[in-house]
Amino acid sequence: MIYCSKCLMPDTRPGLIFNEAGVCKACLWHEKKGQIDWKTREQDLRDLVESAKGSSRSSWDCVVGVSGGKDSTWQAMYLKEELGLNPLLVQFVGSDGTKTGRQNIENLIKKGFSHISIQPNANLARQLARKSFRKFGNIVKYSDYALFPIPFRVAMAYDIQLVFFGENPALEAGDRNSVGLGWDAINIKNNNTLDGSNLDVWKGEGIGERDLIQYSFPSEDEFKLWGGQGVFMGYFLNWSVYRNGIYAYQAGMEGIDADYHDIGIPYRHNCLDSNNGGIVNSMLKHIKLGFGNATEFLCYDIRDGRVTRQEAIKVVKELDGRCHQRYVEDFCNWIDITEKDFWETANSFRGNMWEKSGSNKWRLKNPIWEQEPYADDISLDEIIERIDTKRIAEETEGLSIYEPYGKF
Ligand SMILES: [Zn+2]
Repeated sequence: MIYCSKCLMPDTRPGLIFNEAGVCKACLWHEKKGQIDWKTREQDLRDLVESAKGSSRSSWDCVVGVSGGKDSTWQAMYLKEELGLNPLLVQFVGSDGTKTGRQNIENLIKKGFSHISIQPNANLARQLARKSFRKFGNIVKYSDYALFPIPFRVAMAYDIQLVFFGENPALEAGDRNSVGLGWDAINIKNNNTLDGSNLDVWKGEGIGERDLIQYSFPSEDEFKLWGGQGVFMGYFLNWSVYRNGIYAYQAGMEGIDADYHDIGIPYRHNCLDSNNGGIVNSMLKHIKLGFGNATEFLCYDIRDGRVTRQEAIKVVKELDGRCHQRYVEDFCNWIDITEKDFWETANSFRGNMWEKSGSNKWRLKNPIWEQEPYADDISLDEIIERIDTKRIAEETEGLSIYEPYGKF
């Protein structure tokens, strides 16, 4: 694998491009973010939302898609506290759901938010997850289709004119189709990974078009009739997943109670609403593409200067792709397959960056830690302790929604 010369993103990431100096597009976007006049952009956002206040038949001014995790907690609080909007929180529970995820939504409701949750019947979700796993080696691909359409559909149903999302995923990931994307979230329907226009792949075995409405974008006519706007807040505000994590802990969000080695990342604030979506899927990505969520997170940490490249390599070497057996068991029970079946299917997606070692175990060919030195003067625990969002949240209690911007 060839890695970005700044972060640790490998060339196996679909859609990622590099410049002549070997820097990935996500890093270039990060550099560009440093030159944006965020004060002006924020004022633009304030101007944009002014007309939406009180424009709905209900008391809700806007819809915001949430999971109850770090980003949606920050987003909901920002819209309410800073912009003075009354948001309706809309959640899509794609698959298993978790106790922590439910608690975090309760936390927001107690803070004065209304909430609508949409969850497909378990039989349908299970069937789609099984298909998603077998066909793509990605167990949440089907539910990703719903994340954008559902908030729009709810806004249309209640005649609410503004729909908020966080970051533009194509832009943050350095996707080659991200050129020219601004704040208009309605454009997301043209994104290559979320193009829901063709749902044929999910049909069959008793699943028809009408069962899939929550996974499909409203039509052009529906958008026209509605006449509202979809907004990526990440265009207007200097988004920081890390800062959001600290803020959300302070606002009462609960993290995962698990060892880092069991969840494959050095953060307990990620994917709190689904073990399948976060932990198991990260391992599958590791099998398919040679990197998992530890790489994703540590790339942000490198770009923001929280860790050195050598420290990041150490964390990735230790944690990437790790997933405790109990999460695999839960997933197999949920979609009703055997573990043997799970591993056979998972291995059928194994990328060519893997080889069998002498002891017949899979190992990555020439991974980054064999190409470059990694930190040996600091332990893994020390690195993790230093970047731990929960620890920082506890030690810096009472941060305002803005305060962490420069600090973290
Ligand atoms: Zn990079």
